[in-house]
Amino acid sequence: MQVGATMDLLRPLLADITIDGLSLVGEVTAEELGLTEDDAVVRGPLAVSLDLTNIEGLVAVTGVLEGTVVRECVRCLKEYEVPLAFSVRAAFIPEPKSTPRHPKRIDPRKARAEVVETEQEEDPDDQYQYQGNQLELAPMLREHVILSAPMQPLCSDDCLGLCARCGKNLNEGPCPCAAEPSIPTFRVVQGMKRKTGGPSAS
Ligand SMILES: [Zn+2]
Ligand SMILES: [Zn+2]
Repeated sequence: MQVGATMDLLRPLLADITIDGLSLVGEVTAEELGLTEDDAVVRGPLAVSLDLTNIEGLVAVTGVLEGTVVRECVRCLKEYEVPLAFSVRAAFIPEPKSTPRHPKRIDPRKARAEVVETEQEEDPDDQYQYQGNQLELAPMLREHVILSAPMQPLCSDDCLGLCARCGKNLNEGPCPCAAEPSIPTFRVVQGMKRKTGGPSAS
């Protein structure tokens, strides 16, 4: 089954998930997933490859999502690009009460609000609900992208960070302060903020 438009890719019809399942392959943009820059900075489109199976109304979704994201290193504050690739697993169950919804293009802001609303009700186990005869994959994929982000992104495992005194990125070479006693790295960011006041005398 060939699905052309992105809109269809992210909103498959239940009727299209036949006994053989449904394969969805294509590219989506961060905007189409409802991702804001606060969630993740995505470079270029995201390649999505999903397999859907319908077992008496319970739709299992498995597959992969790949792309490139821009993260900010917690040590040197530099932005760096990393490949994004992870597997997607989710289950969709019918929503108990179905309110008719207009089949129109997904408004990212609206999709975002829906995620916030449903988060309180849904199972923590990647279970989502669908209304009527159509699935909304965007909020589910958006969550996957957000959850794939590391807590402490590092441009490299041996990133040297910034000099706590002069703020120079030490990956680009030593600074004049190198001769002075070193300051623990966890104070780097603090040191930057207090740059006008100078390093404390402690
Ligand atoms: Zn770094
Ligand atoms: Zn320095």
